[in-house]
Amino acid sequence: MKIINKILDGKAVSQQIKAEITEIVSKLSSPPKLSVILVGNNFASSVYVKNKSQACIVCGIQSEVITLDENISEAELLKKIHELNQDNHTHGILVQLPLPKQIREDRIIENIDPRKDVDGFHPLNVGHLFLKKAMLEPCTPVGVIEILKRYALPIAGKHVVIIGRSNIVGKPLGIMFLRENATVTYCHSKTRDLPSVAQTADILIAAIGKAQFVTDEFVKTNAVIIDVGINRLPNGKLAGDVDFEKVSPKVSAITPVPGGVGPMTIAILLKNTLKAYQNIMHKK
Ligand code: NAP
Repeated sequence: MKIINKILDGKAVSQQIKAEITEIVSKLSSPPKLSVILVGNNFASSVYVKNKSQACIVCGIQSEVITLDENISEAELLKKIHELNQDNHTHGILVQLPLPKQIREDRIIENIDPRKDVDGFHPLNVGHLFLKKAMLEPCTPVGVIEILKRYALPIAGKHVVIIGRSNIVGKPLGIMFLRENATVTYCHSKTRDLPSVAQTADILIAAIGKAQFVTDEFVKTNAVIIDVGINRLPNGKLAGDVDFEKVSPKVSAITPVPGGVGPMTIAILLKNTLKAYQNIMHKK
């Protein structure tokens, strides 16, 4: 892909990936299937689930959304997961997070068959990621690496600063950058003088969850900026963790919000579902 007006266009890249998936899926003897479990009626979660299942349909992947009551017990949810683990027609299982308080998320994730764990959150997949490479790796961090690669932006030898160390974004992303031979610095809420540290980055990742937190004083001239954040402003609009207006004039490339990392995450979820299918069918 060619960078136009400094924008790393996640929507365009995700469409390219989805076209590749569609092509492969069209040649399969039976379609892959993703089952998504949605517990309760959290508005943001139901929007995410809808987007995921629509993307599946576009690529010829079957999608099933299982909606469960907010008050469901942990045992009942586990029973549903065990059913899906056993179901030969289900290749990917995704439990939309967050879950209600009565349910322990780690317990649920540990009970998903690791071969069907398309979110890449199962401890076995996380362990493999840290050791070398997992069969299924978390979608958002993979999406970040993929967008840089599709734009042929070099990673090896670069200093990558990641603001945010969550288990689903920051932490695994750092390991992936290390694998790509970058030099990695993790930052978090206890990091001292964050703007000075961030300014040393060739590639700066913002995965914080605070709207427009990263301003021009955080960035080095010509740095590459990846904005993972998705935040809702008081006026209802979506905003990233980066103050796009202030930062974009100073940098060489930047992902917008919306239209950056978000669509990449969904494209990688579809890729993971296809991978899970291929792995399961191959071993039959
Ligand atoms: P999270 O679990 O809340 O983690 C946020 C991280 O940011 C933590 O490590 C926290 O540090 C750090 N942080 C918070 N305030 C900070 C500050 N003032 N200075 C420095 N670091 C600070 O969030 P997450 O799940 O990683 O998500 C981050 C953002 O990405 C959210 O906006 C989320 O909606 C978005 N997201 C987007 C996608 C996508 O597909 N685009 C996918 C997942 C998440 P501590 O560890 O010290 O608390």
